[in-house]
Formats: sequence, structure tokens, C-alpha cells
Amino acid sequence: GFTEDYAPADVISDTLPLVQHLLKKTMITVEREDRALRLIRMSRTELQQVLVNLIVNAIHAMPRGGCLGLRTVDAAHGGVDGVEIEVSDTGAGMTPDVMGRIFASFFTTKSREGTGLGLSISQMLMSQHGGKITVRSEPGEGTTFKVWLPATEDDF
Ligand code: ADP
Ligand code: MG
Repeated sequence: GFTEDYAPADVISDTLPLVQHLLKKTMITVEREDRALRLIRMSRTELQQVLVNLIVNAIHAMPRGGCLGLRTVDAAHGGVDGVEIEVSDTGAGMTPDVMGRIFASFFTTKSREGTGLGLSISQMLMSQHGGKITVRSEPGEGTTFKVWLPATEDDF
């Protein structure tokens, strides 16, 4: 492999300190599960930007506390080997109507501190790297975002 190949869990570890103060303030526990064995090559700072967006959204969805899930797992998509990074929360969830609009630029349901750009930029960054973002949500139950990225070749 090339030296710039890295495990997706490394970026989660780099990202958590940036949001630690928000997690503490709102009594959110973190559940981590790192199962991905494959490596990725997307710019670390860009993937970190995507994860910060998803994690801050998850925290905003749990103003009275809850559980933030961060998981990595190997997953193939359309015959392409890759890794999936899952960011889940036990927060407010979304109606199907809201869910249909979240990736549009400037769409926000937040009266303050909402630019509505986080998810549209994240989706753009992922597609630039041959990856994608999917979402599942249940009002009152929570939300799960999945980020998929192609793995690097086993060329070592
Ligand atoms: P912003 O966070 O500035 O509102 P985003 O593009 O990050 O913009 O998100 C757009 C909208 O998607 C949010 O305003 C919110 O309505 C919805 N959303 C995103 N993540 C979640 C989540 N984890 N739980 C509930 N709603 C979410
Ligand atoms: Mg956001």
C-alpha cells in the first residue's frame, strides 16, 4: 500500500477531540465499534470535515442527551470493495418530507447556527472521491448516516 493509505477509524479518532466539549455539555455517550480492516485514501482533512458535519448534526439532534454511535465496517457496493462509516444518534429523527430535502444547499430546520450547507458539502466531497452518503431516520427514534468509500487496492 501507499503510505497515505489509512484506516477509517483513525479519522474518527482525530475528529472526536474536536467535538468533545459539545458531547460533555449535552451528556452524550459515545459508542464506538471499529471493524473495518480495509484502508482508504480520501484526503484526511476532507473526510474529517464530513465527519464533523455529521457528528455535530447528531449532537444537535440530541439536546437532552443520548447516544452517538460511530462504527466502521468493510462493505462492498456494486462489486467494489470499500468501507462504511456509520454515524448514528438517538435523537429527534426526521420526517420523510425533511429527509427528502436535507442534501439541498441552504436547507436547514435550525433557527440559529444553521447554514444548511453541511450535508450538501459533505455529499459533494464524498462523490468527488467516488463515495456516497445514505441516511435512514425514524421520527422520535433517531437517525443513521452511512458514508461509503472505495477501499484502496491490496497492493503491498
Ligand atoms: P445545518 O446543520 O446547518 O442545518 P445540514 O446540511 O448539516 O445543515 O443539515 C440540514 C438539515 O438536516 C438540518 O437542519 C436538520 O433538519 C437535518 N438533519 C441533519 N442531520 C440530522 C440528524 N442527525 N437528526 C435530525 N435531523 C438532521
Ligand atoms: Mg449541519
